[in-house]
Amino acid sequence: MSIDPTNDPALRSWVQTANLRGADFPIQNLPFGIFRRAGTREAPRVGVAIGAAILDIAACLAAGLFDDDSAARAAATACAMPTLNELMSRGPSARRALRQALSALLADSVAAHRRQIAEHALVPQQEAELFLPAQIGDYTDFYASVHHATNVGSMFRPDQPLLPNYKWVPIGYHGRASSIVVSGTPVRRPVGQRKGPNDEVPSVGPSRSLDYELELGAFVGTGNALGEPIPMAQADDHLFGLCLLNDWSARDLQAWEYQPLGPFLAKNFASSISPWVVTLEALEPFRAPLAPRAEGDPAPLPYLTDRADQERGGFAITVETWLRTARMQEAGEPAVRITQGQATDLYWSMAQMLVHHASNGCNLRAGDLLGSGTISGPSPESRGCLLELTWRGAEPITLPNGESRAFLHDGDELQITAFAERDGAVRIGFGVCTGVVLPA
Ligand code: MN
Repeated sequence: MSIDPTNDPALRSWVQTANLRGADFPIQNLPFGIFRRAGTREAPRVGVAIGAAILDIAACLAAGLFDDDSAARAAATACAMPTLNELMSRGPSARRALRQALSALLADSVAAHRRQIAEHALVPQQEAELFLPAQIGDYTDFYASVHHATNVGSMFRPDQPLLPNYKWVPIGYHGRASSIVVSGTPVRRPVGQRKGPNDEVPSVGPSRSLDYELELGAFVGTGNALGEPIPMAQADDHLFGLCLLNDWSARDLQAWEYQPLGPFLAKNFASSISPWVVTLEALEPFRAPLAPRAEGDPAPLPYLTDRADQERGGFAITVETWLRTARMQEAGEPAVRITQGQATDLYWSMAQMLVHHASNGCNLRAGDLLGSGTISGPSPESRGCLLELTWRGAEPITLPNGESRAFLHDGDELQITAFAERDGAVRIGFGVCTGVVLPA
């Protein structure tokens, strides 16, 4: 892949909010999502975010705006649907053709009559209801941050923080797709079994250590047939794009239940994702190598090794979490940032996770979601969950208004954001993935 005209930093849109400095959705981004006008019974359908608006792709198709471009027109026929699965399944060439047509249509150089038609297909984001971007058949969460794995491991197994398989195998577990919710959906504190170190027997009740996990999600585009692994050189052809992911976690339930088969009810009560999926094409200018492995670490095994992946398998994305307590909301105070990290601090690339997942012949399907695992970096400010930030609750964080948090309280709003920026490219953002904690 190379930088195509849709990434040209000189491009500007006739949608003026897309040209504002620091906007998440400039014309170089064009993330896909599912929307309808709020308060209507319209059918949910595919839209592309541009500035503070959404362009209705099916409406553009119906108005004949893709009539002179057969590839884009064919891809746009996948957009009158309530999920992105069909567009995802059609692969990178269909997605690129549509992206190029949308970029040309939204650029300020477009012919006046075409712009006039497209203006009628714009819906302000404030007037839109956003849905899960895909029907997610399967969800797998990885554990790709060595810093997260080391921190968590040292709390639970001080003598052996990192298990011997970690630097060889991209560790993951099969999560639950049915409880994945779109940003903005409130999350109820789960009830479950927990057993503290001084308890003789477990008790059942609301989790006392509800946490979030700062992650990126990767959507599978075209799948692979059962029994047919995906080689590293083709991994990117099977990836559609990235979203924000909050893997809500009940640490007390998790500590009691996780052995020997891993996470279960501590995780599957809810996972939140952002409504907008940022495509690989939009992320192309921000490809980068992952942070180098530590001296003495093994090289990835051959099936996980690829030169292009080593040079540019990571994404230079800055990820952040923001907390707004109930008291801050009542006082009208803004959210406070509690974490800032880098996606290049992951130990495994998204391509390596996808290839490992399919390496035994497991078939991935369009709309499947792969979570990166909590993204933590080497510094204390880049720890991607409260478990690490407060060292299992032992060192609560203090907020500017004097409140402190070991874990999340009812009423807390947790926001995940992310952006990519570098010289010679226009900054792009992911929007927000937010959720408020409801009492059990
Ligand atoms: Mn996770």
